[in-house]
Formats: sequence, C-alpha cells, structure tokens
Amino acid sequence: MVDYGNFITALKATWMRRLIKTDTKWVKLLESILKISISEIWRNGPDYSYLLCKNLENSFWKEVLLSWLEIIEQTPLSKPQIINDNIWHNPKITIDNKSIFIKSYVNKGFIFVSDLLNIDGTFRNFDELKHINPKTNFIEYASLRTAVTTRLHTQDIHLSNLQNTLQYGPICRQESKLHWLQYQILHRIVPTNKYLFNIKKAESAVCTFCKKDEESISHLFYECNIVKELWCDVEEWIFTQFEISITSDIQSVLFGKYKNKESYKFFNLIALIVKQYIFSCKYKSNPTPNFFFDRL
Ligand SMILES: [Zn+2]
Repeated sequence: MVDYGNFITALKATWMRRLIKTDTKWVKLLESILKISISEIWRNGPDYSYLLCKNLENSFWKEVLLSWLEIIEQTPLSKPQIINDNIWHNPKITIDNKSIFIKSYVNKGFIFVSDLLNIDGTFRNFDELKHINPKTNFIEYASLRTAVTTRLHTQDIHLSNLQNTLQYGPICRQESKLHWLQYQILHRIVPTNKYLFNIKKAESAVCTFCKKDEESISHLFYECNIVKELWCDVEEWIFTQFEISITSDIQSVLFGKYKNKESYKFFNLIALIVKQYIFSCKYKSNPTPNFFFDRL
C-alpha cells in the first residue's frame, strides 16, 4: 500500500519542478527574496542545496528543499540514471572525500555525468576535454575522471549490461516505486521509447500502446488515446465511488493539482498509482480499467 509520508514528501518536492521549469516573474521575485539562484539548484548536487537550507529562513521553502533532498537520497540510482546525475556538489562524486566544483568545466556546459562520457559510456579522453575546456590540466582531469568513474562503478552493473538495464525499466526498491517514478517524471528521465531511441537503446520511438505516435513522457502518461480512455474511467470511478468530480489534464496528471483541497490531494494520490500502473503496462500489456480497479 502507498506510504502516505512518502507521498506528502513527493508532493512537496513537486514545487521544485515548478521552480526549475518556470521562468516567470514570481520566480525572480522569490530568488531575490530568498537570495538564491533557482537554476543553480538544478545544476548542482545535494550538497549545494543542503548549504542553501542552512541559510534559508523561510520555513516553507526549507521544507520543499528538504523533501526534494529526501527523495534524492532515498532513491537508488541505476546505471542509466547515474549518467544523469549532477557532477558538482554531489556527495557521491568526491575527491579526497569532498564533493567537487570546477568552475571552468561548468562554464563550458559540463553539468551532468553524461556530459563527460562518450556514447559507449567510457570517459572522454583528455585531449577532447582540453579542446572544449582549455583551462583544465591533466592532474585536474585525472582527478575528475577517477571521481566520476568510481561513482559509475559503485553499481554492480557493467557497461555492457546498460542496454538490458534500460530495457527492463527502473531498478528500485519495491516500496519506493511511486515516488521514484514521480522523481523520474520531474527530471524528465523516464525511459520512454523516445528517450531510449534518442540514446540509441531502442529501435523505435513509437508508443508501446497505440503504436502510432512518438512515446514522449506526456504521450505515455496522458496523451495516448489508449491511456486517455483510462483517465476518463478513473474520473468516472472517483465520481461513482466518492461523489467527487475531478477533471484530469496533462498538467495535473504529470505534476499534480496544487490547490489545498482534500479532493485534489486524493486525486494526486490516485494519479500516482495510475501512472505507476501505466508504466508497468509498458512491459506487459495495454492498460485496461478493470485490471487496474480490481487491484486498487
Ligand atoms: Zn500511444
């Protein structure tokens, strides 16, 4: 059954997504009030956010940040996800037991582990990196390579098995499946066919269910005609069972409804379960309402 504590944590953390993906005036206002730069949270690992929390006086945003950090820490990353991990201020990528930050690399656009790797998963050679970032030197390069490759090898998965790992979806503990999936959605790292095709780990980007359109995150969880039918049935089911009328849309399905209404909290919980069900169907058969409701 769903761990309600985990669910609340996941909900709070969805605020992070709103901040990271939104570029509106209120975000700029918030940045000036809190004296932080939102984009830096996304570009750096957890150590950066912990430092921010220490200095934050606003308890709501402190809680949002801490919830987000909690999800990150409880979420075991499989090899495919490690390559999307932040390089900088990441306690899991260290030199002399300290997380690292090398400005000249950041300035040249090295943000995630994958930025340092070749398509076959090996670390880029010195000459290539020197060409992109002339300010680096071999000692710095070698330390960085050791730190990153050590992190990559902490998982008992060999590079040659990467393809299989991707094909079989996320490796995660059973009890954290729901918030792990939500975390992947927020970070846009769900292994959809589009994602797998882009990184050359699938032969086609076409949707598993309708076999017509490209399987993006929004298509897989909402826009696909087959999935849309399921959401209509979920709305109807909520109404007949609880007399609560809720309309789903792409925004609320992917990121939840935000107004502080009990019915919205209920919808968010159901939406998490439905998304997990849809995702599991990718490896079994097309989603059907009866199959889902029987198990709810
Ligand atoms: Zn489809």
